Amino acid sequence: MERGDACDDSTFRLFLEDAGRFSGWIARYLAGELDHLPVLSRVEPGEITAALPGQAPSQGRPMTKLLDEFMRVMVPGLTHWNHPGFMGYFPSSGSAPGVLAEFLIAALNQQAMLWRTSPTATEVEHVALKWLQSMLCLPPEFTGVTFDGGSMSNLHAILAARHAAIPNVRTRGLDQGIDGTVYRIYCSEQAHSSVDKAAIVLGLGTAAVRRVSTDRQYRMDPAALSSQMRKDRAAGCVPISVVATAGTTACGAVDPIEAIAEICETQRTWLHVDASWAGAAAILPEHAACFRGFDLADSLVVNPHKWMFTPLDLSVCYFRRLRDLTEALAVTPEYLRHPDAHSDLNLMDRGIALGRRFRGLKLWFVLNHMGVEGMQAQIREHIRLARSFADTVERHPELELAAPVSFSLVCFRATPKGVAAHHLDALNESLLERVNAQGAVFLSGTRLGGRFVLRLAVGHLRTGQAHVDEAVRQIDRALCACMDVAARSQP
Ligand SMILES: *Cc1c(COP(=O)(O)O)cnc(C)c1O
Repeated sequence: MERGDACDDSTFRLFLEDAGRFSGWIARYLAGELDHLPVLSRVEPGEITAALPGQAPSQGRPMTKLLDEFMRVMVPGLTHWNHPGFMGYFPSSGSAPGVLAEFLIAALNQQAMLWRTSPTATEVEHVALKWLQSMLCLPPEFTGVTFDGGSMSNLHAILAARHAAIPNVRTRGLDQGIDGTVYRIYCSEQAHSSVDKAAIVLGLGTAAVRRVSTDRQYRMDPAALSSQMRKDRAAGCVPISVVATAGTTACGAVDPIEAIAEICETQRTWLHVDASWAGAAAILPEHAACFRGFDLADSLVVNPHKWMFTPLDLSVCYFRRLRDLTEALAVTPEYLRHPDAHSDLNLMDRGIALGRRFRGLKLWFVLNHMGVEGMQAQIREHIRLARSFADTVERHPELELAAPVSFSLVCFRATPKGVAAHHLDALNESLLERVNAQGAVFLSGTRLGGRFVLRLAVGHLRTGQAHVDEAVRQIDRALCACMDVAARSQP
């Protein structure tokens, strides 16, 4: 084909037309055209399945028809993570530069298992992760590896720690002559469920996970950690890793990392820091004190797909010594052996997956487009908005904070006068349900200290003061309705 011929091709022209329609829809969506829809989808389970044919069509259908069907059938079943009123769990933004990067990533279809199968994907990922590393103030010896989420990052960190603690585990598994050795992973009561999953996958079992008690602010108690480790050592247990959390999923508590690092040093135990969500705030100099001890970790995870405006999926796990991971895991089949000068850059050696997407590109686009200061300003604004919500809660006669405000996360609950303490959980559960049914905002709930609490997290790019004020109105309205119901049910 001659140069230029490609542009006369009908496939080319069709793609351009379809892409125009798709990008038009996406642009309107990202600009908020669907903001009137309920944030939490109202479909019933099975409704989407029932609305779609049970078999693939025998003849292909044009993309315009499919886009119509997408809008008609699928959009109602979306819970709008890209809505400024999404304040449940931890919000995440599929920002424009990230979305456009995904477009390129899909088009290029790079599979970066070896450096030679995509020098650009391998090296752009390296560059973007180095930028992020310096934004997080991590020492230069760390090396970042991308995974599809914090759970996979945690799994790989604990995998590397297991290899460091049990040298033969790679060949012999945990069947080391059945000498009865019992292994241990330590984390706080508030640590993420993926620590348990990692223990299951790594053959250690959930019984290996020691959940260390926390203080009144839900931070790991280092004294309890230290005494538990000494007790376990005396009983012949071998510690594999301590997982400290910087920003717990329930309430954003930051474990005392420096104190925990000191214990790990004494116990010669791997320190993994799970900063999946709050790690983003470590790019703000005014919060540096919260993250003191990051540099002492053996591994540390942060998810740009949570609070750094990068579309799912992108989690980064930084390893102090990359070889802890590669030695634990690298297996090179004959057909992938090449005498490349850069074979130490092969991404396939850095995780369970062989194939690797060009994930680094979206982070590169987002960091470049926002700039470090732009991203700092955005995260700072989210923290300010959460603080403003917390101030309202503190002034509110019928609401109270349920934990210290952590960055952009506020845990709170309703405590109206006249409602008996043992009815408060039920009241708050129905409050949450009502707020979400109203549709303008979406909040989530959790249990803290045995009590049911609501969580409001600010993290979407388009979330502003108006949305936080709206959340307050929605909560007030739902609370009134709950109290009416309660009053009517009184004899
Ligand atoms: C969200 C979260 C995870 C899990 O991350 P995924 O990307 O959802 O797998 C792990 N740890 C903490 C502290 C988190 O907040």
